[in-house]
Amino acid sequence: MAKTFKEIMEEARREVPEASVEDVRARLGRERGVALLDVREKEEFREGHLDGALSLPRGFLEIRVEETVPEKGTPIIAYCGGGTRSLIAARTLKEMGYANVVSMTGGFSAWKSAGLPFTTDRQFTPEQLTRYSRHFMLPEVGEAGQAKLLDAKILLLGAGGLGSPTALYLAAAGVGTLGIVDHDVVDLSNLQRQILHTNDRIGMPKVESARLTLEALKPDVRVVAHAERLSSANALQIFKDYDIIVDGCDNFPTRYLVNDTCVMLDKPNVHGSIFQFEGMASVFAPHRGPCYRCLYPEPPPPGAAPSCAEAGVLGVLPGLVGCVQALETIKLILGAGRPLIGRMIYFDTLSMEVRINRLQRDPACPMCGDYPTITKLIDYEEFCGLRAPTNPAATAAA
Ligand SMILES: [Zn+2]
Repeated sequence: MAKTFKEIMEEARREVPEASVEDVRARLGRERGVALLDVREKEEFREGHLDGALSLPRGFLEIRVEETVPEKGTPIIAYCGGGTRSLIAARTLKEMGYANVVSMTGGFSAWKSAGLPFTTDRQFTPEQLTRYSRHFMLPEVGEAGQAKLLDAKILLLGAGGLGSPTALYLAAAGVGTLGIVDHDVVDLSNLQRQILHTNDRIGMPKVESARLTLEALKPDVRVVAHAERLSSANALQIFKDYDIIVDGCDNFPTRYLVNDTCVMLDKPNVHGSIFQFEGMASVFAPHRGPCYRCLYPEPPPPGAAPSCAEAGVLGVLPGLVGCVQALETIKLILGAGRPLIGRMIYFDTLSMEVRINRLQRDPACPMCGDYPTITKLIDYEEFCGLRAPTNPAATAAA
């Protein structure tokens, strides 16, 4: 027999306990592990919601609740705008086996009228809502994660082979501020792998070319150009304003300087390096895992390591490693997944063998060890050589 809306509501009221806004506030204050479900539409949620509430619009309730609240015994408080939608939602939850569900009388309007505190999320522009819509669908990103990406300040060392894909993907993902350190100009021989740059920009500073490409992709990205050579004199000053450092440099003096500066400032260093057909990447998070010097305490002697120009590199390889660096950076910003801290991923592209090695922090490390011997930044001499090392870690190429 068909039921009227009034009958449905009466039934729901008989089955679902209701709680006043004061009761809800008191419960949230004293109980742990209560799932607070906001069943309003996304737009309503964004304009203001109870602190700690999970957004689960009524239309997605049945589809998503089991991933949002996996344990059926979890106490749930559901609320909506005025108390009607949440009552019907709570009844559905009971039918799905959630035993301990209440609906908040009067909804968010009553909460606000009572002068109780609430949170307003970041307001996205209509363009941002569309641009990042595929991120919003992922629970690991969502609107809170996207807000973190937009607020993130990331420094890239080098706008070369590694820095190109990293910068493109970080900008596309919505990272708000990208600092780029590179003192070089675009050269024809770079274009085989450095996909930020184009033929018509040969001779242009790489940081300027990078800015043009990134702003064309996403007009509101803030690109901070540091068109200077990194040295012990400017590293601390440049690094201090950024959250995460991405090392895509092509030489040992810079690699050691980046490592040491990151340890001194306690900033994560997302490392990548390539050699001919081999690449590797890791995350050096000071004191949470090893640093680069835990693996290689001192640079190789001058003449022992070839540069990119001398050793050659397959054009697509930095793309692979740079994408891993972009991915690890995004995971660090979001706090999602398991970062490559204490692990190094190696790619051999000719055999397409990938392996991940565990790395340990060395208590005797001269930089991050228990009794560090390096206490100030060092400018190593530029060195190049022709003898190929046996491990890509001992190379410098980007
Ligand atoms: Zn170390």
